[in-house]
Amino acid sequence: MRIVVVGGVAAGLSAASRARRVDPSAEILVFEKGKRISYGACGLPYLLEGQVSSIEQLVVYRPEFFERERNIRIRTESEVVAVHHGRREAVLRSGERVRYDRLVWAAGARPARVSRSPRVFRLHTDEDALRLEEYLGRERPQTAAVVGGGYIGLEAATALRARGLRVRLHHDATTLLNREDPWVTKRIVERLEQCGVDVRLNEPVDPEALDAGLVIDATGLRPNVEVLAEAGAALGRTGALAVSERMETSLYGVFAAGDCCEARHVVSGRDVWIPLGTTANKMGRVAGANAAGRRERFQGVAGTSIVRVAGLAAAVTGLSQQQARREGFSPVEAVVEGREKAKYFFGRTIGVQLVADRNSRRLLGAAVTGDDGVLARINTVAAALAARMDAETFAGIDLAYAPPYAAVMDPLLVCAGQLLRLLDS
Ligand SMILES: Cc1cc2nc3c(=O)[nH]c(=O)nc-3n(C[C@H](O)[C@H](O)[C@H](O)COP(=O)(O)OP(=O)(O)OC[C@H]3O[C@@H](n4cnc5c(N)ncnc54)[C@H](O)[C@@H]3O)c2cc1C
Repeated sequence: MRIVVVGGVAAGLSAASRARRVDPSAEILVFEKGKRISYGACGLPYLLEGQVSSIEQLVVYRPEFFERERNIRIRTESEVVAVHHGRREAVLRSGERVRYDRLVWAAGARPARVSRSPRVFRLHTDEDALRLEEYLGRERPQTAAVVGGGYIGLEAATALRARGLRVRLHHDATTLLNREDPWVTKRIVERLEQCGVDVRLNEPVDPEALDAGLVIDATGLRPNVEVLAEAGAALGRTGALAVSERMETSLYGVFAAGDCCEARHVVSGRDVWIPLGTTANKMGRVAGANAAGRRERFQGVAGTSIVRVAGLAAAVTGLSQQQARREGFSPVEAVVEGREKAKYFFGRTIGVQLVADRNSRRLLGAAVTGDDGVLARINTVAAALAARMDAETFAGIDLAYAPPYAAVMDPLLVCAGQLLRLLDS
């Protein structure tokens, strides 16, 4: 059996590695159109900020590793430009035709907008980061404008500010992080302004027309679906590839994983497109196992994510109140501020927001912000969402406590208590 994987980063390599574990005898071939494989794009903002010294530090494995240790063939600079599923054939840009028994499409996403201006950059691939770095070194711009208030825009603004540039952040909506959550937005904006970033919300702009020495266009992504759609694979309501729980597309034997496809939202039950690296890895594992003959299921996503904005961690999971209302729930929101650990251990302030449905009392989402202790709290709520927990059960969970690590009454539980009172009122 020959399994062909398209895309050599998070989803593609997870799929190839898992397929190898499931089927030691399969022939596995990965095509990647770029020069590098297996690098963490998530680290690019830290390269820009200077916390990571070279792009090579972001490379997890090299092709030789996969060939030697996993018997997986990797071909870089090899773009798949067509798929003829009837003949089980992928066509490379060079014209070469490659037969497959199973195909895993893990081609990711790309920035939605393309600019020709030499001052406008994006921060999506290793090559983008290298170009940006070269420009910063050569032109030494004093000012920067970042367009887009998703996590990449926020990370880019933070990084450029840390390098000493005067930074303006433009976002076309009133709320950041694609979250429709004024509470999280307010806390992020406060922190950005404290560190000197000029934040302009609800202000649509044309990146090419902005007056700044450097512009980063972080206005959004589009899934790489065209080749597979052309081959007959169905797209979902979001425009990304539609997949089953087994990560199979509408074409039998063709799987998809990562930023190019949709996933079921564990709270709303709807298909959504929330492209994230952690999701890509998990989807890739399921797609790879199933391509190699197993029957595994991808559980879905809650959109759990965390971003560092000038030292502030802002994390979200599930639905915000506004999103929940749009999904047909009757949401109730509670917010508290507390210490993430004992005062005598220099516990810092942490903000917690919980959302639950008034009718079913089911927990729907959360946001947590603070300088420390944010990750553990958001992950606790993510686990509760996966278990479809109600607010009562959540308010009684047995969380660990010792003064150097936690507060005796954790802010999560204090917030859950507040939520119960609101649900009962
Ligand atoms: C700056 C930045 C910061 C991020 N930070 C985080 C974070 O903190 N946390 C988080 O969870 N996620 C983060 N992400 C998102 C994460 O990097 C992506 O979700 C993840 O890389 C998706 O993996 P993927 O394998 O689906 O797609 P990609 O990583 O995009 O890989 C797809 C690969 O397919 C190749 N390809 C495309 N078309 C073809 C073709 N036709 N033939 C051959 N090869 C092809 C591409 O060249 C690409 O290398 C960040 C992303 C960026 C850009």
